[in-house]
Amino acid sequence: GYPRAFHSLVRTFPRPETYPPADFRVEWGPIFHRGRLDGTARVLILGQDPATHEAIVRRILVGEAGQRVQGLLAKLGIDQSYVMLDTFLYSVFGQGGGARHKDDPAIASYRHKWLDKLAATSPLEAIVALGGLAEAAYQQWRAAPAGQACTAAHIHSTHPTCPESASADGKKA
Ligand code: URA
Repeated sequence: GYPRAFHSLVRTFPRPETYPPADFRVEWGPIFHRGRLDGTARVLILGQDPATHEAIVRRILVGEAGQRVQGLLAKLGIDQSYVMLDTFLYSVFGQGGGARHKDDPAIASYRHKWLDKLAATSPLEAIVALGGLAEAAYQQWRAAPAGQACTAAHIHSTHPTCPESASADGKKA
């Protein structure tokens, strides 16, 4: 279950009117997050979009990309105090689907509600954006009021599955 502070977010999520089924696997349902929502997260990982493993587990970044992120966190000595959000609530379908919706205001608006809530409830010290779309999402939030007020350090990293996906579409950096 989700803590009370997040109830309205998991009840009022965007549906196909915001995430067109031609570009997102809305039939898999929304996958919201992974990690701590109890006000203890110090690191926020911003990923791209959930894939098949995530659709089964109903938590993001549990597949190959997630394992690699977990390795990064382990090297930093962080095995609990983290939270992860994806840029998109639904799995991207087909090539270029994500990039086409990079600047959608309704997608960003819901994502900002999550980021605002996390920034307000967790002592975030660092935000890691994985790949170009996550970085764009971070920058959009950074320009909004709660993002401007956030003092967490930020880093844009190559997406952890870039070596594999780059060979497929050449642009998931
Ligand atoms: N799974 C996710 O949830 N996010 C990614 O960015 C990649 C795989």
